[in-house]
Amino acid sequence: MRLVMLGPPGAGKGTQGQRLSERFNVPQLSTGDMLRAAVKAATPVGLAAKNVIDAGGLVSDDIVIGCVQERLSQEDAKRGFILDGFPRTISQAAALDELLNSSQHRLTAVVELLVDEELLLDRVQKRAQEALDRGATPRSDDNPETMRQRLASYAESTAVLSNFYYNQGRLVSIDGMRDVDQVTADILEALT
Ligand code: ADP
Repeated sequence: MRLVMLGPPGAGKGTQGQRLSERFNVPQLSTGDMLRAAVKAATPVGLAAKNVIDAGGLVSDDIVIGCVQERLSQEDAKRGFILDGFPRTISQAAALDELLNSSQHRLTAVVELLVDEELLLDRVQKRAQEALDRGATPRSDDNPETMRQRLASYAESTAVLSNFYYNQGRLVSIDGMRDVDQVTADILEALT
């Protein structure tokens, strides 16, 4: 199973991606998580990415493609993966196709979560509040100002991927406004 999760920030890619990862027993690869780990560890990638992430922009294609390429070459990703947060640009999508082609693989499907964008700001604020309630630190980019910019980055660079994958015949569009379990059930049904 080789899946890409597509959708704006706060759409539920991470939540659904994790469930699909357990269901299909393949790793969930989140470029957001990879980049946040790099920021925390203050690696060269992390240092280059931190300000961009906090501004709600997109980290450069070179950096992100490098991270994904390295991660996909690891043993546990050989049987499949759930990509969450990648690709986010047409160049990243083309690089992914090339990477998969070179190992004679292709994407099984691209799962697009359709959501009402006006509600995303609320969802992300809720996620930040839940972190605070747990005594954890919210993500530095889960604040209204950065979230607006993340939505703008999505509209500008990522939304076109829906057409890109539709044209490849790989797009599966799912109503992401239903409850979490129902969304999972809808995805599984669409994939079988
Ligand atoms: P969300 O999908 O909720 O916005 P992510 O955890 O996927 O959150 O990403 C957080 C941030 O990390 C993004 O706003 C962006 O700055 C950076 N990022 C993650 N994945 C990519 C990518 N594929 N290309 C460029 N930047 C990325």
